Amino acid sequence: MSRTIWLFMGPPGCGKGTQASRLKREGLCEHLSTGDLLRAAIKSGSELGLKVKSFVDSGSLVPDQVMLELIEDAITSGHLSQTVLDGFPRTIVQGEALVKMLSKSTSVKLGGVFWFKIDSLILVKRAVGRRTCSSCGAIYNIEFKPTKQHGVCDLCGGELTHRKDDTEETIKHRINVYEAETKPLLEFLSGKSELISLDADRPEDSIYGEIIKYIKK
Ligand code: AMP
Repeated sequence: MSRTIWLFMGPPGCGKGTQASRLKREGLCEHLSTGDLLRAAIKSGSELGLKVKSFVDSGSLVPDQVMLELIEDAITSGHLSQTVLDGFPRTIVQGEALVKMLSKSTSVKLGGVFWFKIDSLILVKRAVGRRTCSSCGAIYNIEFKPTKQHGVCDLCGGELTHRKDDTEETIKHRINVYEAETKPLLEFLSGKSELISLDADRPEDSIYGEIIKYIKK
């Protein structure tokens, strides 16, 4: 089956995970989040988890080689025809490796790159208040998007968790890492695929409406 990969790129807290998990919930695509894969590995105490824990907890990037090993299988072994890749690539090395990987594949192609643009000051507030459902992955915010019942997911009743790297200090570091390592990648990718620039400081529904013009069933 032929598959299309869409890249969701933007600074921490920009809302790309929220949009990707909704697309998945509505059956439009698979959601492949490298952050989720790493957090699951840390939780399970696997060899990979032990290797990456200090990077993830401090908001620094996991070394490229580790990420490339992690991603190759995940990209090529999907079920649905469309996949949103959330959080990868994050460096030029990763971007070059992805483009090379896809150029060798006859069944997987790059559909486009969604760039979530937003002011850094808003990001800190968003990320510090972020809560994620440990069961279905839905994302809330204690200030901007609270659940009806404290600590309980509106959609599935799962328990909400607060990410260890969503503290003010770590978010600021992650924003700096994004500016230095990931943003330069946008220019590289714009020469390889369509770059779709999104104003991410808008209501979720409005952003979603724009995304599904591209990602359709
Ligand atoms: P995220 O959930 O996308 O915000 O990612 C959480 C953390 O996982 C990041 O701060 C990094 O420590 C690590 N991480 C996720 N994706 C990557 C990647 N592509 N390259 C390096 N580190 C990553």
